[in-house]
Amino acid sequence: NRRIVLAAHPQGLPTPRHFRLEESAVPAPGEGQVLLRTLYLSLDPYMRNLMDEAGTGYASAVPLGAPMVGGTVGRVVASRHPRFRAGDLVLGNAGWQDYALSDGTDLVALGEMQRPSLALGGLGMPAFTAYVGLLDIGQPKPGETVVVAAATGAVGAVVGQIAKLRGARVVGIAGGADKCRYAVEELGFDACLDRRDPQLARTLAAACPDGIDVYFENVGGAVFDAVLPLLNQYARVPVCGVIAHYNEDAPAPGPDRLPKTMATVLQKRIRMQGFIILDHYGERFEAFRRDMSQWIAAGQVKLREDVVDGLENAPAAFIGLLEGRNFGKLVVRVAEA
Ligand code: NDP
Repeated sequence: NRRIVLAAHPQGLPTPRHFRLEESAVPAPGEGQVLLRTLYLSLDPYMRNLMDEAGTGYASAVPLGAPMVGGTVGRVVASRHPRFRAGDLVLGNAGWQDYALSDGTDLVALGEMQRPSLALGGLGMPAFTAYVGLLDIGQPKPGETVVVAAATGAVGAVVGQIAKLRGARVVGIAGGADKCRYAVEELGFDACLDRRDPQLARTLAAACPDGIDVYFENVGGAVFDAVLPLLNQYARVPVCGVIAHYNEDAPAPGPDRLPKTMATVLQKRIRMQGFIILDHYGERFEAFRRDMSQWIAAGQVKLREDVVDGLENAPAAFIGLLEGRNFGKLVVRVAEA
């Protein structure tokens, strides 16, 4: 049983030395437990926050020497649990390891799926995040302008496509020409701008002649600075993530932006709302699953995955995610389905 543990708390961007690959015996399930073989491991930005000693306000840190946490699609290989049988495909939280035990409370039976990895992306947590954040908080109306960064990623690509289905004009921001071309030509965005363009504030203003009504906040940093002056009266800002700041170990130098931000929020009557997707499963997951399945089947939402082979490659792939090297929902194929 190979597993990747947290070897040290990173300062700034993690490097391979913050992870360690260990081997141990495959555990045997006790009464009420199942043994899972990991097929796909989801790599997500929140994992960076759990590598810090403090963790986050809603999830505790990974202890040093413990396996990195993560959502997984796995196959039950042995069961002493009444609800699961060997061979069942399940969504769970086995983390960065080949095998794991579960008492079943965190498992969701998937049935057989053609693309099991979609349970970690387009039919799972990131797309559900896009759905709740955009529809419940952003509430785009036909003709309004929606802006989203990390636009070809797991969350952003779905935000933009749902916004288009709602009749909005969608401007994406992404890292590089290939991603921008994909957002426009494949995902149907109206425009997409390179986040590294030093003239981003100007190009964004030109791409949003009627201002911005919904800014789906995925990144913070320079993108937020470019967006702020373009927000319209009564704009909505679902605050989903600020990945540009996850590797900061000290406040960025420069002027204090808070007064200008607050004055804009006040004068433009902007509604900003943070949300953590874990809170919304009970009331919204069924509606999401129904809508999303239809959109996928009708070809109205396209889902691009970035599949990395081999558990041993998870650290490098995860570091790449924090640098924008992934192109689509990042998953590791740990074993053949
Ligand atoms: P993505 O698949 O979009 O991958 C992360 C992307 O972030 C990279 O590909 C890169 O895209 C972009 N990025 C990386 N570094 C920077 C930077 N310094 N500045 C700007 N952009 C950067 O990830 P997800 O779709 O899974 O996550 C998107 C956001 O949603 C994250 O902030 C995440 O934390 C948040 N999230 C929040 C949830 C919640 O419950 N609130 C749940 C799930 C996700 P590019 O190179 O194209 O710019």
